[in-house]
Amino acid sequence: MIDAAPAIPAARYGERLAAAQRLIQADGLAGALIGVGADLEYLAGYRALPLERLTILVIPASGPIRLVCPRLEAPGALSCPVVQGSAVEVIPWDETDRPAALVADLLADGGRRPGQGTRVGISERLWAMHVLALQAELPGAALQSATGVLRALRMIKDAGEIEILRAAARAADRVVEQIARGRLVGRTEHDVSREVRERLLAEGHGTAEFAIVASGPNSASPHHEASDRVIQAGEPIVLDIGGLLGGYASDTTRTLWVTGGDPDRGPDAAYLRIFGLVREAQARATAAVAPGVTCERIDAVAREVITAGGEGAQFIHRVGHGIGLETHEEPYLVSGNPEPLRQGMAFSVEPGIYHDGRWGSRIEDIVVCGPSGPDVLNGSSRDLWIVDG
Ligand code: ZN
Ligand code: ZN
Repeated sequence: MIDAAPAIPAARYGERLAAAQRLIQADGLAGALIGVGADLEYLAGYRALPLERLTILVIPASGPIRLVCPRLEAPGALSCPVVQGSAVEVIPWDETDRPAALVADLLADGGRRPGQGTRVGISERLWAMHVLALQAELPGAALQSATGVLRALRMIKDAGEIEILRAAARAADRVVEQIARGRLVGRTEHDVSREVRERLLAEGHGTAEFAIVASGPNSASPHHEASDRVIQAGEPIVLDIGGLLGGYASDTTRTLWVTGGDPDRGPDAAYLRIFGLVREAQARATAAVAPGVTCERIDAVAREVITAGGEGAQFIHRVGHGIGLETHEEPYLVSGNPEPLRQGMAFSVEPGIYHDGRWGSRIEDIVVCGPSGPDVLNGSSRDLWIVDG
């Protein structure tokens, strides 16, 4: 029995929109145009498919905020939380209308569309066909990414968002435990991956976004997708799985070693050594999480452990990425990012070591920066999982 996923209260969307409008004003933008994608979902609670027909949230620097959508999509738009809470009016357009012209008029201040010398924010996921049509209607205005404004909001998760992320993480943990209890030797990676996806859904996810099952030499490829390779006794499996639960992403990695029940097919000293380095790097980087510590510092803490063990060149990716409505979002925990962590930021901590053609290992948790240290959302064991099946 799955508990109902916690949800964002409808009133929060109105608060987020008001905060976004304040930031747009403070930034000196004439307004912001938010197309279908995570930014729209964050601000309006409206999840829609991107289409050739334009759907867009129009946020002028001041004045009413409108959701412009094709008349065909209006029923969905009218039922989204921010419209129900009456913070936003829906403006449907008909098949013969020019929606980009309508949007430009809605941005007009005192009857004048934003012109020469003005800047308009635009969400990065909006298709180029729409951006070009909007640019044609706003010839003098400079279009720029709206991410600079919205990142400040989306990067900091409130208590409600953290609880949804925690529920998603715990659901993914249960799937790891279920997979490790089952039979793996003799099955293809594809077959195990399919089971992971089914179990993610059974544990309350709305969608299973990815199910990496990287066995034996495939474990040396960080983003290996499942293949027809048959899993053998006496090799590692990197299991990296996630999906969306209540709209928020899970993403966890555990490293398994399958023995097939044969005590002689356990991990050798060379593998235990690299796994030990990954384990220590992951623990130390997680422990270093606190407000004010920079993103690049967390990466460096993990890298120092792995480099001291002589494996620095084999740790071939950043240590982590932000997570929320999207699996990968800001902040990125990477060398060169001086952004200080702040309370409420949520991100992965996932060092790995990869030896091409041989094997690899990774451990990944989702961590929230708490008031004075890390709040680790995943709870399954980070040790090497020895699997008999
Ligand atoms: Zn992952
Ligand atoms: Zn990840």
